[in-house]
Parts: sequence; C-alpha cells; structure tokens
Amino acid sequence: MLNIVIFGAPGSGKGTQSDKIIDKYDLFHISTGDVLRDNIKRGTELGATAKSYIDQGQLIPDELMISILADVLDANKEAAVNGVIFDGFPRTIAQAEALEAMLQERGTAVSAVVGLEVPEEELIERIILRGKQTGRSDDNMETVKNRLNVYHNQTSPLKEFYQKRGLYKAIKGTGKIEEIFGDIAAAIDAL
Ligand code: AMP
Repeated sequence: MLNIVIFGAPGSGKGTQSDKIIDKYDLFHISTGDVLRDNIKRGTELGATAKSYIDQGQLIPDELMISILADVLDANKEAAVNGVIFDGFPRTIAQAEALEAMLQERGTAVSAVVGLEVPEEELIERIILRGKQTGRSDDNMETVKNRLNVYHNQTSPLKEFYQKRGLYKAIKGTGKIEEIFGDIAAAIDAL
C-alpha cells in the first residue's frame, strides 16, 4: 500500500496536487476538510459542531477528528486497497501519533509525507482568490490569519516529527502546477 500524507499550510495546493496524485497512483482520497464541509452541507450534528470551529479558523478537537478519520478508513477499505492520500490530516502531533497507531493496527504505515512549501505572502493571495472564486466561507482575510497562526503553532511541528522518521519530502510549492506535480511524482517514484 502507498499511503501518502500531503502536508502544507492552507493554500499550499494540497487539494490540487492530491487530485493529480490520485489519478496517477490510483489512491483513495481522504480530505478531512471535505468530510467536514460535506457534513455541514447535509446539516448533520457533526457539521454543526465543525462549523463553529471552521468559521473561526480553529482546529476541530483531536479526539473527534481522530474518530472521524478511523470511521472513514473503515468505511472505505475496498476503495483504499492501493493506499490512501491523507489531505488535511494529521494537523497536530496527537493526530500524527494516532495515524501511526491506526495504520499499524491495519497492517500498514505512512509511506511518505509530501510537504508543499510556499511563502506566506503567496499563501494569503491564493486563499483570498479561492474565496472569491468558490465562496468558501473560511477563505476570508480575518479567518486566514487565524488559520495561518494555527498552522504555525500546531501543525508545522509535524515537519520535524516526520523528518525524524525519514518520511518528509520537501517540495517547492510555487510555480506551474504541472512542474510541482513532476517533483512530487519523482519523490514518490523514488520510494
Ligand atoms: P481544510 O479544507 O483542510 O483547509 O480544512 C478546513 C478546516 O476544517 C480547518 O481550518 C479546520 O477547522 C477543519 N479541519 C480539517 N481537517 C482538520 C484536522 N485534521 N484537524 C482539525 N481540524 C480540521
């Protein structure tokens, strides 16, 4: 199984590059942000809880997020036979440790972490543009600042966590989408 974590700040291109990785490697896509937004759209209880955090640019509590991820993995065992691309998870050290344990229980492991590295000014520009194009409610200037703070404080320590395990592959996340994808594919093919 090829299990890839796509990692990076909000606006670093995780969704865009995930779509291309899925096409080439036939992986199952788990975007925790998409799972939460789908629950909001369907008006579920989880959606109502998630919305209050998302609108403030804060993270959903680890325990809840980890149990959601376990449910998604268990519900999609067949679709995920070749492996999974984890997009937006883990976002904290506790989530990364839980992912390690969850995959181990299922007889597999993280194969690599693809880290999309993009300067902060470009992240902000991209997110504001996406907000205008898609109407995504948390893509506004105020929430973006919170999301970037949360990223720096809670998520960026994962880079070192995965570097220590020899799994982190740094990818320059600026320039043409196809070129960025070329670098990602080269890193995956070298595994
Ligand atoms: P994303 O689409 O990955 O940018 O996620 C949008 C929002 O969903 C984030 O700002 C968080 O509020 C929430 N979220 C998504 N994934 C997670 C996660 N792994 N842990 C906690 N909150 C999450």
